[in-house]
Amino acid sequence: MTRTVSRDTTRVRNAAEACAPPFAATLREQGKALTRAAPQVLQLNLGKLCNLTCVHCHVNAGPGRKEIVQRETLEKIVDWYAANPVPTVDLTGGAPEMAPDFRWLVARLRKMGAHVIDRSNLTILVEPGYEGLGAFLAAHRVEIIASMPCYSPDNVNEQRGNGVFDDSIRGLRLLNSLGYGIDPDLSLHLVYNPNGPKLPPDQDELEADYKRELSKHFGIEFNRLYTITNLPVARFASWLKRNGHLEDYMKLLVGNFNPAAVDGLMCRDTISVDWQGNTFDCDFNQQMNMHLRAGNNPLKLWDVDLAAWKRIPIRTAAHCYGCTAGAGSSCGGAVV
Ligand code: SF4
Ligand code: SF4
Repeated sequence: MTRTVSRDTTRVRNAAEACAPPFAATLREQGKALTRAAPQVLQLNLGKLCNLTCVHCHVNAGPGRKEIVQRETLEKIVDWYAANPVPTVDLTGGAPEMAPDFRWLVARLRKMGAHVIDRSNLTILVEPGYEGLGAFLAAHRVEIIASMPCYSPDNVNEQRGNGVFDDSIRGLRLLNSLGYGIDPDLSLHLVYNPNGPKLPPDQDELEADYKRELSKHFGIEFNRLYTITNLPVARFASWLKRNGHLEDYMKLLVGNFNPAAVDGLMCRDTISVDWQGNTFDCDFNQQMNMHLRAGNNPLKLWDVDLAAWKRIPIRTAAHCYGCTAGAGSSCGGAVV
């Protein structure tokens, strides 16, 4: 399975590269440099295990995946963090809550003063076996950033699977009942991504639509909506290729290159780490196996010296055009 996914990743990556000028050359032409700032976010991808199998997934996550972080790796990460307290720790996956030591990790990080974000697919909150998860997150004041690709059922179910919309609404109601989206200490942000090969619409306008519709039909409240562009990576890239959309989608991203988005790219101030402790510029590069290296070996987080980190060049490829198209895109939504 892993080898098939990896071969597929390489094939699709080559096809995407063939449709776009080199990203680094475009930056140069525009007089832009992609340099690192001091890290503000440590993003930990706890593994590829997930209860869903969404079409747009850039991780190829699903219920059958075996890649999941082990306690020994987390202990090394936590030890590194104690000496290098990057302000925010952003937990992602797969469904990060499915990592067996998720709660142990959150409790340790919060005790050390980290601002912790959980990137949740919402449905995990109402999955049998995860009772009490929402209350645990609220008790530890964890910020939640939750996928919600639409405020109506059809788009969500098409992209994420039948029944996902109803479970997402149940998850949101549970979070509201715990104070999320209402108590200023319990932030609940939603994430929109387009259903198909399109750029997201204006973030502020769409947020107003979400607030109106979710409140009117379901009584749901939340803080901010983040619009995120689908990057041509992993399952979404394969879907584009299989359906004959890859070339047009790359043209759309390249044609909408916005130099103003470069300064806000998340790779500038994020350290991305996979379930084995390997480091990357971002979660997309992680899924493309674009490791950062120490000599011939992958650079592990526990070997990162933050003073030297700033000098490591950021690795780019054709999928980076997804972050610079239109209003730009990052884990915190539009960047321009
Ligand atoms: S997009 Fe998120 S919820 Fe969907 S399969 Fe991927 S990791 Fe799971
Ligand atoms: S894909 Fe990653 S490396 Fe490329 S521009 Fe986006 S955040 Fe930066």
